[in-house]
Amino acid sequence: MTTISLEQEINPWENQAARFDYAARKLNLEEGLWKMLRMPSREVIVHFPVKMDNGKMEMFTGFRVQHSIARGPCKGGIRYAPEVTLDEVRALASWMTWKCAVVNIPFGGAKGGVICDPKALSQGELERLTRRYTSEIIDLIGPEKDVPAPDMNTNEQTMAWIMDTYSMHMGHTVTSVVTGKPLSLGGSRGRTEATGHGVRVICDESLKYLQMPIEGCRVVVQGFGNVGSNAARLLMERGYTIVGIAETEGGLMNPDGIDIRQLLEYKRRNNTTLGFRGAEAVPSEELLVTECEILIPAATENVITSRNADQIKAKIIVEGANGPTTSVADQILSDKKIFIMPDILANAGGVTASYFEWVQDRQGYFWKEAVVNERMDAILHDSFDDVVRYAEAHNVNNRIAAYMLAIDRVAITIRSRGIYA
Ligand code: NAD
Repeated sequence: MTTISLEQEINPWENQAARFDYAARKLNLEEGLWKMLRMPSREVIVHFPVKMDNGKMEMFTGFRVQHSIARGPCKGGIRYAPEVTLDEVRALASWMTWKCAVVNIPFGGAKGGVICDPKALSQGELERLTRRYTSEIIDLIGPEKDVPAPDMNTNEQTMAWIMDTYSMHMGHTVTSVVTGKPLSLGGSRGRTEATGHGVRVICDESLKYLQMPIEGCRVVVQGFGNVGSNAARLLMERGYTIVGIAETEGGLMNPDGIDIRQLLEYKRRNNTTLGFRGAEAVPSEELLVTECEILIPAATENVITSRNADQIKAKIIVEGANGPTTSVADQILSDKKIFIMPDILANAGGVTASYFEWVQDRQGYFWKEAVVNERMDAILHDSFDDVVRYAEAHNVNNRIAAYMLAIDRVAITIRSRGIYA
């Protein structure tokens, strides 16, 4: 076995490519399609100025990567973070292609990012940065071309600015250019909680499949942002016991269960989870390797690596985040017979609700939250079944099954369209 450095192991693009190659080989994918789907179809880098509050001008770098438009317009979030790289955005764009295909919605994959530290920027600076970035990529995006959405450190407000900037350039209001908007601008009911809701559905399906009860099911969640906090709250409301919450600044543990509604209220008031009285403070890294039935990494990439995978004691991992597990760690977890629900299925509730938002904007007709959730549940339920049946039929783990299913669906579309080459 070749040994690789941690730096190589945590390159998200290499991780995506390793799984893609493995699944493509298993599928006997023809060489031409293999080469075509391995690469993103378009990568754009923009360097642009933003006037700062102190009157000075700063330059920022942004990316938009479109992996595939075979099955429909590209779809994928935009993240703001100091450590954004082209390789990361590429990986995230490809994952979006596979994710949309796993849940069988008519989109291809894309992703965007801007290198910046959002915590160090004022609202005015963030607005100017967002508008200028939008104008730099304006020819790439559009309801029929590429539809951005929020990701780490971007939110409803960011989407509202993008929608407004795009609409100003077009000369009319185009709500369907982005999803994850506020309700008042054509957002969908249920979108904010959708990814957490989907994580909850996949936890339920996993327990049913493994014939385990919800009662007494201990859950540890890493990340208490959009995905993690909504997943934790919805799981608690359903009867799961949330024994641990791991955040950047430190973790919280309570074997009897953390009251997530109280923790949300605490975080709203104090802007941190630290100091919450309803749980004991513990180091976050410890929580990842704590005994529990379900571990939900819902923070960021590369938190389960060759360095800690062998210590994980969870029976099930439901990946709320994109790319939390490296491909090297996959093998270790597989040897330990941990049941993994991969990101491209487990966090697909978000893009499914985004698809509904795009449909509603184009129809100009908005659905009740119960309709959004009912339709999302049906899609996730079928997708879960598709993935586990595929895994059984091909004798592969759930992650490879999800990749195989997705690659096969994209390949079928491309073969029937024909390749303009
Ligand atoms: P967010 O910014 O709202 O929340 C992320 C949280 O994780 C923050 O509270 C942050 O402090 C915490 N965090 C970051 N690094 C951490 C670490 N090493 N240890 C512990 N905590 C850490 O972001 P989000 O929207 O919840 O997204 C989280 C993940 O889910 C990302 O990987 C994102 O790509 C993925 N995702 C999000 C959505 C969505 O709809 N928001 C959909 C699909 C996938």
